[in-house]
Amino acid sequence: MGIATINPATGETLKTFEPLTDTALETKLTQAQQAFLKFRQTSFAERSQWLHKAAEILESRKTEFGKLMTLEMGKPLKAAIAEVEKCAWVCRFYADNAADFLADEVIQTDASRSFVRHQPLGIVLAVMPWNFPFWQVFRFAAPALMAGNVGLLKHASNVPQCALAIEEIFALAGFPAGVFQTLLIEASRVAPLMDDDRIKAATLTGSEPAGASLAVAAGKNIKKVVLELGGSDPFIVFPSADLETAATTALTARMLNNGQSCIAAKRFIVVGDIADAFEQKLVEKFKALKLGDPMQPDTDIGPLATPAILNDMKEQVARAVAQGAKVVVGGAAIAGAGNFFQPTLLTNIPIDQPIAKEEFFGPVAMLFRVSNLEAAIALANNIPFGLGASAWTTDPSEQNRLMDEIEAGSVFINSMVKSDPRLPFGGTKRSGFGRELSRHGILEFVNIKTIWVN
Ligand code: NAP
Repeated sequence: MGIATINPATGETLKTFEPLTDTALETKLTQAQQAFLKFRQTSFAERSQWLHKAAEILESRKTEFGKLMTLEMGKPLKAAIAEVEKCAWVCRFYADNAADFLADEVIQTDASRSFVRHQPLGIVLAVMPWNFPFWQVFRFAAPALMAGNVGLLKHASNVPQCALAIEEIFALAGFPAGVFQTLLIEASRVAPLMDDDRIKAATLTGSEPAGASLAVAAGKNIKKVVLELGGSDPFIVFPSADLETAATTALTARMLNNGQSCIAAKRFIVVGDIADAFEQKLVEKFKALKLGDPMQPDTDIGPLATPAILNDMKEQVARAVAQGAKVVVGGAAIAGAGNFFQPTLLTNIPIDQPIAKEEFFGPVAMLFRVSNLEAAIALANNIPFGLGASAWTTDPSEQNRLMDEIEAGSVFINSMVKSDPRLPFGGTKRSGFGRELSRHGILEFVNIKTIWVN
């Protein structure tokens, strides 16, 4: 697929883009490196002022940016506008807190003075996915720029106008030229970029193959990399839970972003004899969802971002059925233009079948029945991923076991998994490594320099 805006609701190609030539790419790299040498000298106060301005631009143009996201990747407009607001939040969060996060850290030793100083690394390459086309970029860029790094963005090929809009926002906010640039390049040109000495580190949010490819290139060059990859998060419901609240949240947690979220609840694990009632509630809620034009305010589910994802859903559901799953609701694509797939609930999936361990990146949920806490934890952990987990119980001893024993980057009790600028975000196992957001996120791309003075 080339670099293009293709409306996923209609299949219409609206705009195509030529990838950067090698010469143009070199010019951008040179500009980024020159920008870094000056930008690293700017104060936190200056960077904070620019980032606050970026937040203002985001808020004042949130409908315009929201429409751009919806046009390019199909998320419902109200969710797209909320995403722009969240980007303003992360900008303000780091604009207000970065100086404290990166202040010299005094450590008493037998030196007359010893402390840690945090310094920027240089150019950081960010490889980003289309599913949250603004949020994924801003949650990288806000801390990275506040730390004094400069950013180069290789965004997904289906959201080029979002990528260019983000570059424009940083420029309009007052960041010096070259501090944040978009590279319209193909995925195949990412790994070779890691050989360039001027690029000091990289971050990638996306699939396992893409993450592994970048990590190999970074490893070969001894460069830092942060990976935010896939997941198949469990959503575990115990008998003590408020079933209606759990089911309503389950719907949101699975269907957010037309089902295309890394931290979506993808496997519902229901404990004990509440399973039938919970399943019934999910079925009713799935059936009530309104599919359609994502630009309309009453649409709950829009199209999948690309025809390839639609094909993945068809193929995965067919494989699930072949491996023993029962389709309780949905299960098929919607005929006609656009990449629409019905909200789908699968049950009776044998837990030892490969499909039980796969990620469905669309509006398809799997529901499993288990008899007790031990079985729930074992099933929750029985996947290669470890991104997030949501568990619903009011029993403190069950809560503690879940916090301790679930293998994931986060455990949310009586809440859906969500990202929040104040809290670290990331995964374990094949969901990746490193953290974004909070103080942990800004520390990923700094040199933690030890100073000793006798
Ligand atoms: P993807 O194909 O990996 O694309 C993500 C980005 O990587 C795009 O910019 C893509 O560029 C680029 N890319 C693809 N192959 C590459 C390669 N070999 N080397 C370097 N860059 C490469 O991911 P996707 O399928 O669009 O996104 C879905 C996956 O991302 C899911 O598994 C989801 O769970 C995960 N995800 C994780 C998080 C998280 O925070 N953990 C957040 C969102 C999504 P092109 O578009 O040009 O191919």
